[in-house]
Amino acid sequence: MPKLFKNKIALVTGGASGIGRATAIAMARENATVIVTDLEKEGCKATVETIKKEDNNAVAHPMDVTNEKSLIELIEQIDSQFGQLDIAFNNAGIGGNFKRTAEYSIVEWNQVISVNLTGVWLCMKHEIELMLKGNGGAIVNTASVAGLVGMGYAPAYTAAKHGVIGLTKNAALEYAKKNIRVNAICPGVIETNMTKTADEFRPGWLETTAKLAPIGRIGQPEEMANAVVWLCSQGASYVTGHAMAADGGFVAR
Ligand code: NAD
Repeated sequence: MPKLFKNKIALVTGGASGIGRATAIAMARENATVIVTDLEKEGCKATVETIKKEDNNAVAHPMDVTNEKSLIELIEQIDSQFGQLDIAFNNAGIGGNFKRTAEYSIVEWNQVISVNLTGVWLCMKHEIELMLKGNGGAIVNTASVAGLVGMGYAPAYTAAKHGVIGLTKNAALEYAKKNIRVNAICPGVIETNMTKTADEFRPGWLETTAKLAPIGRIGQPEEMANAVVWLCSQGASYVTGHAMAADGGFVAR
């Protein structure tokens, strides 16, 4: 089978674990050279080692997506090393604390908004600059089913994820004629460190929430990776500005 991403350069944020790690591995299997970024240095290295063990290409670049200076350095490095950026998966995110709206503090609010919303905008801002120098590209931002419906006990997370979908649609309109497609993925409940942490905080949450998906089970990171790979591929050449639910039917009710 011909590979989908031959000669393509891909950037994945939050690539040390969960959905980002699975997607970086899946993109590398399609022959992309993947730049794996995350706050977690060891996790970045581990993802890259897994990719290299499969004889595919990846580079680790630990970084905080809220730090614009680091982002600029990363994009400059990609430009000088590869001269192009074809694919970007803006996926780094945090869950935030489970509290009602009136119980949230400004510190908790700002932390979630800065990583989950401002971080996605900053990444897109600098990725698009490099994509415009080349032949365009494909961007996928990680939103959530919490970007499509209210979830409760997650005011900042829900606002940030709704914001990611808005940012995605806005950028899709602006760059459609420049050959840059911009889409969002809206995962349901997926088995990752994020949901494990949520379950530790509120025991039983994972099982109860997973059952809300008509498909009757929790999703796996690899199932998100498959959807993201497709959105970034030529197969999705007419798809832009779309917020794709990959949620076992969670929001179909
Ligand atoms: P995860 O915790 O396994 O992965 C998130 C990664 O993001 C971690 O490796 C973390 O170190 C990294 N990260 C956090 N803040 C960062 C920052 N400032 N800079 C760089 N990296 C940072 O969780 P996951 O479930 O794989 O989450 C990936 C994305 O999927 C997130 O945006 C999350 O909101 C979204 N999501 C997850 C679910 C789910 O059920 N797991 C559902 C909907 C959406």
